[in-house]
Amino acid sequence: MTERFDGVLIGGGHNSLVCAAYMAKAGKKVAVLEQSPVIGGGCSTREVTLPGFKHNMHSNYYVGLDRSPIIRDLSLDEYGFSMVFPEQQQGCIFRDGTAFTIHRDVERTVKSLEKINKKDAKTYKELHVKFTEGMLDIITSFMYCAPLPPEEMKARFSGPLGKEFLSYNNLSMYDAVDQHFEDERIRVLFKLFLGSFTLENTPTTGIFFPRIFSRIANFALPVGGSANFTRALERVVIRGGGKTFTNAEVKEISVEDHEARGVILADNTKIEASEFVASGVNWPLTVRLAGEDYFGAELSKAAIEFKWASHALCTIHLALKEAPKFTASKFEPDIEKTFNIFWGADTTEEIDECFDQIHEGKLPRLMGNGGSNSHFDPTYSPDGTHVGYWWPFAPFELKDEGSKGWETHREEYTEHFINEWGKYSPNINSDNIMAKFLYTPHDIVQQNPNMVQASHHIGAYIPEQLGYNRPHPKVSNFRTPIKKLFLCGSSSHVGGAVTGAPGYNCANAITDELDIEKQWTPVITPEM
Ligand SMILES: Cc1cc2nc3c(=O)[nH]c(=O)nc-3n(C[C@H](O)[C@H](O)[C@H](O)COP(=O)(O)OP(=O)(O)OC[C@H]3O[C@@H](n4cnc5c(N)ncnc54)[C@H](O)[C@@H]3O)c2cc1C
Repeated sequence: MTERFDGVLIGGGHNSLVCAAYMAKAGKKVAVLEQSPVIGGGCSTREVTLPGFKHNMHSNYYVGLDRSPIIRDLSLDEYGFSMVFPEQQQGCIFRDGTAFTIHRDVERTVKSLEKINKKDAKTYKELHVKFTEGMLDIITSFMYCAPLPPEEMKARFSGPLGKEFLSYNNLSMYDAVDQHFEDERIRVLFKLFLGSFTLENTPTTGIFFPRIFSRIANFALPVGGSANFTRALERVVIRGGGKTFTNAEVKEISVEDHEARGVILADNTKIEASEFVASGVNWPLTVRLAGEDYFGAELSKAAIEFKWASHALCTIHLALKEAPKFTASKFEPDIEKTFNIFWGADTTEEIDECFDQIHEGKLPRLMGNGGSNSHFDPTYSPDGTHVGYWWPFAPFELKDEGSKGWETHREEYTEHFINEWGKYSPNINSDNIMAKFLYTPHDIVQQNPNMVQASHHIGAYIPEQLGYNRPHPKVSNFRTPIKKLFLCGSSSHVGGAVTGAPGYNCANAITDELDIEKQWTPVITPEM
């Protein structure tokens, strides 16, 4: 059987769908092919504990999506997508019962931080003015434009703020944090964010400090579940005459005369593309699907050597009678209704210990972020009940047991996670918990093979794989050596997380390359 479209997109994650929706807007009839039974990839909402309790299995925090061109260009609000922005954005809890919160309102943040450290509270406000107010637009254009070669980046970022931004590239994240904040507890929050981005404390990661800071008070919860984002995108695709296919695993990209002509599915169905093929799956898989020979020795070797993150996440999801309470609310009452709360680490040494244990394949000292979405959107759980989750950092493979070891220890680890959480929350106990589900790194890969080794940003965040180097300098402009084959997934700039940036940037590359008129105004190249 053969079907024909103008464009074919491999993978049904949000980046493929963003690219597909833009191309549909440009008048193209597109097909989106997803190997699993549901569209969405990392935008996945499932009722894994009890009916009516919605759990975001992967992405939960939408960071900066409201600043992206995507929502506006595609009118996603008209297709059923919306977000809420909780007032209490970030929190951090410590074993001594202290805690602090970061609010959308900077003055309230300052009040909370002053209880921890007055000098750091003042620094926070200064950095807020510089990075949050001063750099939001520039970070948006940095993300929603093709990455610039280092020399051009330097030239464009040659003003005082631009130079300051680039100077963080000479630091590790720890150095960047330590040079600004003196209180260990405040340092811990920023250092834990590194892990959330699948970064580790290597030189040059300091550049993430201004990036994280600029967005730290602007996290959003997708109303009704993260899957609603990809559902809305799918509607745009269908409205434009396109189609999405599930249970449609691509096993080959058809190439003739060095030009992509379509794909072949695992069941041998052929889908022809008269104008383009865009791959929203990871870069090494894309190379394998098309055939290494087309990429030449250097690129094929780079694809084989592409690095995955050296740590993953393991999430405990709970269906609860009442929302989690925290002992630290005596010190900081706002903590209980905070969107993204970190607990488990008091010091830098403990964070380092956790990652050392992960690298040895051990179940580490548990630390990470969590919360209760039903505080902010009651549709996450039935009336009068709540959901809760905590996703500590974890190894993908357990020593001597591999990733399947997670299955062996499922029950034991479920109890361990709950007990550790209970040390901070007196009501995380059997009286309150109606049902529980441990979503392990092994489960992540089973649900989504695109996240190789549970690498949730689809490739390690190391200098050789960031910015102009992602996934390799020769293909970082979303084009490949094969004509009409493009890259639209998170192995390309700006990387993982639900930003839609790789999909958006790819749609710009396709329209530029194939001389298709854009039905949107592209984001302007960053300069400061
Ligand atoms: C536990 C966890 C928590 C996270 N939390 C957040 C968060 O709070 N905020 C955030 O922004 N991000 C978060 N992320 C990361 C985020 O989910 C991903 O970075 C993002 O979804 C990647 O999007 P994508 O479209 O590039 O790829 P994906 O979402 O991975 O989509 C790729 C799709 O391709 C499909 N596919 C694979 N192979 C084939 C094939 N051969 N044929 C057809 N289809 C194929 C896959 O099934 C998948 O659906 C989290 C991830 C995890 C695992």
